[in-house]
Amino acid sequence: MNKILIANRGEIAMRIMKTCKRIGIKTVAVHSEADEHMPFVKFADEAYSIGPGPVLQSYLKADTIIEIALKVGADAIHPGYGLLSENAIFARKVCDAGLTFIGPDAETIELMGDKIASRMKMKDAGVPVVPGTDEGVSSLEEAIKAAERIGYPVMLKASAGGGGIGMVRCESEQALSQHFLSIKSRAKAYFGDDVVFLEKYIDHARHIEVQIFGDDKGNIVHLFERNCSVQRRNQKVIEESPSPSLSKEVARRLYEAAVAAAKAVHYRNAGTVEFILSENDDFYFLEMNTRLQVEHPVTEKVTGYDLVEWQIEVARGNELPVKDQRQIKSVGHAIEFRIYAEDPTTFMPSPGTIRKMEWSDLAAVRIDSGYEEGGNVTPFYDPMIAKVIVHADERQEAINKAEQFFTSFTIEGVKTNIPLFQRFVRSEEFGNGNYNTNVLAGWLETQKGEVGK
Ligand code: ADP
Ligand code: ADP
Ligand code: MG
Repeated sequence: MNKILIANRGEIAMRIMKTCKRIGIKTVAVHSEADEHMPFVKFADEAYSIGPGPVLQSYLKADTIIEIALKVGADAIHPGYGLLSENAIFARKVCDAGLTFIGPDAETIELMGDKIASRMKMKDAGVPVVPGTDEGVSSLEEAIKAAERIGYPVMLKASAGGGGIGMVRCESEQALSQHFLSIKSRAKAYFGDDVVFLEKYIDHARHIEVQIFGDDKGNIVHLFERNCSVQRRNQKVIEESPSPSLSKEVARRLYEAAVAAAKAVHYRNAGTVEFILSENDDFYFLEMNTRLQVEHPVTEKVTGYDLVEWQIEVARGNELPVKDQRQIKSVGHAIEFRIYAEDPTTFMPSPGTIRKMEWSDLAAVRIDSGYEEGGNVTPFYDPMIAKVIVHADERQEAINKAEQFFTSFTIEGVKTNIPLFQRFVRSEEFGNGNYNTNVLAGWLETQKGEVGK
């Protein structure tokens, strides 16, 4: 494998290319007209424009991207996250074209992309899943019946959903009736599939996920957990490893369940098994993401491994760089903060031109950024600008580093959630580590409009 085309944009395209360069692989970028001046386009060895800003006219043009890969003599395509990364049809086409898809096989992507099918598969494999329906619910009457059996509150969810989109908590029959059709049509609009199902809503839950890795030879290892419970709109904004609220014993059982999940589908390449944990540490499989995760740097910091390099090694047909679980160690504590161009209190995207972006790197943090000064955050894409990752021997030290970093981190031209992090990292709610997925919303209420003033 000598040349890789990266079918993505922004920080993750940069991130993948950095590893390629380090290990002597040539890189090819494809980009929209709106992204012409982005750092990842300049950083690539070759770059090709594939169409206008909207993703359907550019980053989702599977055939065009494959054609370019063939034309320029690329050996493989790395899909990053989002966009085509969990598109089984794309993965299949890449392989049919004689190229290597850096990820699992198309069948696994297809199975895991379907939340209902993957729940069933996991149930069969003995991995606990959230109590809920075994099939899609096609009518409101059916949904109401199922909800009565499960018990309110329930989560109404799109089977094909992702990115926190296409789900809503329903308190009562009335709420379920109110949301049923709108979630269905949202699912259809975003994911082209209106199948929805119900899960028990787990109150005061933690989202804890396990990084796993597999190769062609059937080796499967885990690389510990990430606690991603600091969320807004059911989407992560802070992730950390190890999880501050997990006993050694529960952690061990989570790793076991994640490896069992991966084994059940003969998993190859990088994957994440997401679990939801109740207040009394019962845990349930939520979904499996068949790709590199946004928050993978947290795992890289504690394990010391380059996960993109592992992905490439496995895709080359080689064994896992480390296949003996006992040799994989977690050292210190890492925390990632996702920097979004958004209003820090309403979380509404704030597109615009980044007029200024600066920091002093005294605290030695890792910054994975997709933008530079003068860059445009357009409404076409996810408004994440960068990720800030801190690592230290102890959690409190990592928090201190983050706190220090955020005092110097400035972005002007677009609103960002930096003012939120400046305060939140110092909060008791985050500091004690004992938080659940309600933490951000609850803490914001105590701030009485002080954030972002
Ligand atoms: P992770 O667990 O890696 O954070 P997410 O579910 O948050 O995964 O999604 C990964 C990326 O894909 C994010 O950039 C997210 O915004 C994007 N994404 C996922 N689904 C969608 C969608 N339906 N529409 C827009 N962006 C999406
Ligand atoms: P996505 O594909 O959008 O990432 P997930 O199923 O992984 O969807 O759920 C995203 C987030 O939504 C979880 O991290 C959690 O905060 C919340 N969530 C999902 N299902 C439930 C549930 N049954 N009970 C409580 N919260 C849930
Ligand atoms: Mg998820």
